[in-house]
Amino acid sequence: MKTNCPSCGAEVRFKSSVSVFSVCDHCRAMIVRRDMDLESLGQMAQLPDDISPLKLGSTGKYRDTRFEVIGRLKVAWSEGFWNEWYLLFENGKNGWLAEAMGFFMMSSEAKVTDRVPGREAVRVGNSYELAPPMKFYVDDIKEAICVGSEGELPFKGMQGRKTVSVDMSSYSGEFVNIEYCVDEIRLYTGRYVEFEELAMSNLRDLSADIKKIRAAELFKCPSCGGPFSMLTPGLTASVACRYCGSTIDATHKTLAVLSKAEKKMKIKPLIPIGSKGRLLGTDWEVTGFMRRSDKTGLYMWDEYLLFNPFKGFRWLTTYNGHWNYVEMLRNSPVRAAAGLSALKFRDRIFKRFLVGQGKVFYVLGEFYWRVRLGETVDVTDYICPPEILSCESDSSEANWSVGRYIGPEEVAGAFGITEGMPPKEGVAPNQPSPYASILRPVMWSFVAFAICLTVLQLYFILALPDRQVYRGDFKINDRKIAKPFITPSFDIPGSTGNISVAVFSPVQNDWLEADIDLVNEETNKNVGFEQGVEYYFGVEDGEGWSEGSQGSTHLLSSVAGGRYHFVIQAGGSGAVAEKSLSIFVRRGVVVWSNIFVALLLLGVYPLYVIWKNNRFELNRWSESDLSPDNTADEVEADEA
Ligand SMILES: [Zn+2]
Ligand SMILES: [Zn+2]
Repeated sequence: MKTNCPSCGAEVRFKSSVSVFSVCDHCRAMIVRRDMDLESLGQMAQLPDDISPLKLGSTGKYRDTRFEVIGRLKVAWSEGFWNEWYLLFENGKNGWLAEAMGFFMMSSEAKVTDRVPGREAVRVGNSYELAPPMKFYVDDIKEAICVGSEGELPFKGMQGRKTVSVDMSSYSGEFVNIEYCVDEIRLYTGRYVEFEELAMSNLRDLSADIKKIRAAELFKCPSCGGPFSMLTPGLTASVACRYCGSTIDATHKTLAVLSKAEKKMKIKPLIPIGSKGRLLGTDWEVTGFMRRSDKTGLYMWDEYLLFNPFKGFRWLTTYNGHWNYVEMLRNSPVRAAAGLSALKFRDRIFKRFLVGQGKVFYVLGEFYWRVRLGETVDVTDYICPPEILSCESDSSEANWSVGRYIGPEEVAGAFGITEGMPPKEGVAPNQPSPYASILRPVMWSFVAFAICLTVLQLYFILALPDRQVYRGDFKINDRKIAKPFITPSFDIPGSTGNISVAVFSPVQNDWLEADIDLVNEETNKNVGFEQGVEYYFGVEDGEGWSEGSQGSTHLLSSVAGGRYHFVIQAGGSGAVAEKSLSIFVRRGVVVWSNIFVALLLLGVYPLYVIWKNNRFELNRWSESDLSPDNTADEVEADEA
């Protein structure tokens, strides 16, 4: 519908048939549509500027349907601001894109049924069967006030419009928002979206606008009078004064002191506020710095708040030279965190590592909530390297985040830190074990080698089966120096392989020694070796004993097939006139000792890696009050 502004006469267009309210582009008159009549309700004050990437006229796509941004409602609540962008889809339907702290949520209005609870009944944690059997749990209740609007809206989006906004979510991630207004209840259903998936175009030129907005307003610290401007106007809920250390409430024009620094402290962050860097494929700006401590004050760690207008906020945390890249989670992975010793998140099991407290010790820069010095929250960390899942909670809410271990060199490279990067100390809770990553390939190569060796062995056994190829029995004169004799010829089959030569002589408390030459009759090459037997026995102190053996075996490897004979020179002690000597030759003897030795040698490295990995894990858990070994018991205890 096209018509004219009742206040200034400029053309006013209602793009959506359900829009009843519009703010004139030219004179900012608040226009209400009643059938064909327009009425002006006075003038809208200047909309507080922010650094949202969206503007009226931006277009995008959601579930294959194109949409255009046709209106916007800017809302304030006790901890900050958010934007509600009103969308017109190409199929004529309307929707909302909520933008808060860099999170985006797509929703559409749904019919209010009897199942929607009354304002007075709603409590955080309560559940409601809004769409049976699906239950929705109340995540938070916020009192909100409209601080301005632009474009067209389906209701009177006037400044000062007060609502109570109730966020609920289901286990499966569906999202519901109930808006209680003075005279009506509105219900919205939807889900969180990534900005990229909306494929938006005709966006605001932020690179130019950010500079302008930041320079537009200079504030004065209400505590010390020091001047400052804001890095993330419209998103900043509190500012830490760089002169006096006080934290200042930035949600209202009248800046109020949230907390005063007890004593003057100057901590210079390693990455200064305002630093820009490209980390993990995204351009980030450091907008806040926080040093926190545990309850004892012995452990301190630093947290850097990062901002990107399209991605919102992230954290970089550091302790003992270890770094984590941390993303806030929109939904709790579990309903109640307290007492769980392990939990499942994104199909991985996280083990509880730490239960403690985090206290704000020092702050610098800006924050998207109202930060106070000394503020303490309960912290529970769960780990599944390289990730860490943290829950920070107080009596009113629980905030979950997931951190990923990153190397100090990545941080240094991203923000151009050339000196002062602290060296790594100890093992970080979620530091990936350098041995865990190679453990698997090392074990698999070991298994593969073992299989190969066994297969090779089996092949030799099958290709050259063990069999006797010669036996000879002789009587020899038992003399120290005997005459050599030649055995009959015999054949050794196959191309190449081992043979065993066993000698036997029934000596009794006596010995026999033989110099044996194996002669290849085709090549005349020979291989010589000594072999003997000795066997002694007796009775001592009423107990029988024996020593040695009447037989012995010698193994020759790589013996070519062919015709052979032995030349044997045997002799003994001369105790008896004649001794019998038997000689046995076997071909294709199965020798397992080689393969065992090979496997043992191959196993040294895997065992070393396993040992190193265990040491690493022990070091990791030595920093925790909780042992991973107790986990199984505790899970059982929890269920009991
Ligand atoms: Zn006008
Ligand atoms: Zn100050």
